[in-house]
Amino acid sequence: MIGPPGAGKGTQAKELAGLLELAHVSTGDLFRDNIRAGSALGKRVEEILASGALVPDAVTIELVRERLRAQDCVRGAILDGFPRTLPQAEALGVLLAEAGDKINLAPYIKVSDQVLVERLTGRRTDRRTGKIYHVKYNPPPAGADLEQRPDDAEHTVRRRIAEYYANTAPLLEYFRAAGVLQEFDGELAIGDVLKLIVTAARERLAA
Ligand code: ADP
Ligand code: ADP
Repeated sequence: MIGPPGAGKGTQAKELAGLLELAHVSTGDLFRDNIRAGSALGKRVEEILASGALVPDAVTIELVRERLRAQDCVRGAILDGFPRTLPQAEALGVLLAEAGDKINLAPYIKVSDQVLVERLTGRRTDRRTGKIYHVKYNPPPAGADLEQRPDDAEHTVRRRIAEYYANTAPLLEYFRAAGVLQEFDGELAIGDVLKLIVTAARERLAA
């Protein structure tokens, strides 16, 4: 899944993983799990996430390399938030080639900048289930145990969007050249975006 912060990658990736019976690998979630657990990796990346900068490539690539070895990734995985830089994309290419595997589809969820800030500042996550909500666009049910990500404060959001344009947006060309990029209108309703991506993913997986 590729797209700016707030495009809906996590929302779509969780649903897709369930429907297609693939693992959901979110580097952001993995970093946050490590921070919560107080691991060495968590301590190393906490400040970086809080600032809205990107974690160094070597650290991120190693984390994904380990994660993709897990049993639940045998059938494949939805990568959410990775790769985010050209070196990460190249490392992923090598990793997959070594395993005789490939990227089937790189769904680009396109959303305008004006929409992103409102999406991120209104985002809430359920601590228990990890489900993603929005105070206005996807209201949580009563009784949800909500938290707000510290990096969803407005000034950090702006830094993350700038990081996206500087480091991640160039990957659009990279995936287009590889013939796997497909663009989706991320301003449609959540369920409509999902339908379009599921259809495309099923086609690519069958091809
Ligand atoms: P990302 O993982 O790309 O940062 P999320 O999936 O966490 O994005 O979504 C960011 C916020 O926008 C969340 O609050 C989510 O509920 C909301 N959201 C996601 N997709 C849509 C959509 N199509 N329309 C309206 N709000 C959405
Ligand atoms: P969002 O869903 O809003 O795009 P993520 O949960 O994917 O945010 O990422 C949160 C933070 O985790 C990023 O701002 C960055 O600090 C770090 N991060 C996540 N994935 C990567 C990656 N592939 N490379 C470097 N840093 C990453």
